[in-house]
Amino acid sequence: MTERKTLSFRESVNFMVDRAMAVLNIDPCIANAIKSCDSTIKINFPVEINGKLEVFTGWRSVHSNHRLPVKGGIRFAPIVDEDEVEALAALMTYKCAIVDVPFGGSKGGLLIDPSRYNRDDMQKITRRFARELVRKGYLSPATNVPAPDMGTGEREMAWIADTYKHLHPEDINYLACVTGKPVAHGGIRGRTEATGRGVVYVIREFFRHPDDLRRTGLSGDLSSQKIVIQGLGNVGYHAAKLLDEEDQCKIIAIIQRDGVLTNDNGICVEDVRQYMNEHKTIKGFPDAKYSENAAAGLEIECDILIPAAMEAQIHVNNACNIKAKLIVEAANGPVTFEADDILRKKQITILPDAYVNAGGVTVSYFEWVRNLSHIRFGRMERRHDELHGERIVKALETMTGNPADDWIKKELIHGADELDLVRSGLDDTMRNSFLQMKEAMDSNNKIKDYRTAVYVVAINKISRSYLDIGVY
Ligand code: GLU
Repeated sequence: MTERKTLSFRESVNFMVDRAMAVLNIDPCIANAIKSCDSTIKINFPVEINGKLEVFTGWRSVHSNHRLPVKGGIRFAPIVDEDEVEALAALMTYKCAIVDVPFGGSKGGLLIDPSRYNRDDMQKITRRFARELVRKGYLSPATNVPAPDMGTGEREMAWIADTYKHLHPEDINYLACVTGKPVAHGGIRGRTEATGRGVVYVIREFFRHPDDLRRTGLSGDLSSQKIVIQGLGNVGYHAAKLLDEEDQCKIIAIIQRDGVLTNDNGICVEDVRQYMNEHKTIKGFPDAKYSENAAAGLEIECDILIPAAMEAQIHVNNACNIKAKLIVEAANGPVTFEADDILRKKQITILPDAYVNAGGVTVSYFEWVRNLSHIRFGRMERRHDELHGERIVKALETMTGNPADDWIKKELIHGADELDLVRSGLDDTMRNSFLQMKEAMDSNNKIKDYRTAVYVVAINKISRSYLDIGVY
């Protein structure tokens, strides 16, 4: 029997896009222009580690530059290749279009196991990679702006920004060459939590639509849902923590690479994170049952399954065993094209990655704007708004003849700071995009699932920009 070749990540994304193109009946030339990857650079560069030269390989792919700068994270991982980086760059193009972030799509990857190197070595490697990207035209505030992704965070972004600054001290906007920086180095408050928080805003919006809930087979409010989450990294941790602490959902299982924790009464996400920080494993966590069969965790019966780890976690071999009613794709590409087909036949609803995890790039956009304007959001208005609130409280007290309660005073006299504004902008963005997705579904009865709807929304916007401007 010949073994069936599974699709690559890039093929998987392209097939999903094709499904939306078919619904749209789009001109094949425009379809081709949208789908094709503009350019991918592969860089091999040597770095001296412990007195010996090691050669590292990295990629940066630009999928679409119909808008500049192009945007997307850089991942540091022991498994990364050109196909993956190109698939992720394509997802960035659609992601930005869906949430009305005026950027093209890009992605970078460096083949490295960061756990094998100390901080100084990581700094040398990151700076050298950044220098190569700048020199080759793949990193600048105007054209290509990276961000954190798997295996990278604030620390790496600060090194990248500093490297660019040294190469281009005359560029007054140098801080905008990368997003996801520490707040003390030009970052924006709320960027680290943004992707996870965005996932929660999506789920909250979904629960505001009874018809969508009914179609999915969910009942009750958000607090009564049983949730399984895969991956307690930056995205999964913030999403799970908010669902646990603010929405009072029951997190009945947490899946990590080294196993799965289960407890039908709910698991305290913060406790698990603390335990992981201390023990570097979830094994032995006292308030849940542990099993080393991590893969089986995805097949647990639950209301909402949130894959927040790697791509291709739900594939042709396990899709038929999934028992969740709703899958919320916090990771990029966690469901393969073939699995997506199986899940749709099983009538499992999927909220797709290109929309669900777009909170990260949304707040990156805010950070980029903040860097270009050289001023913290809220700096001009905050005290003014507080004075306005004080006047309203005084007026109320004068009219009623009674002193206002402390909580009323607190609510009315609060002027929005940067974090409030970032969260408000993020919430607004995720809610607007949900409505756009729903409108696409309501206005075209050929669209039967959210993934197709999301791509239809994105492709419509991108093709409009090709048609309006033309290609020269
Ligand atoms: N790496 C994140 C993503 O996949 C963030 C990208 C960005 O902020 O540019 O969406």
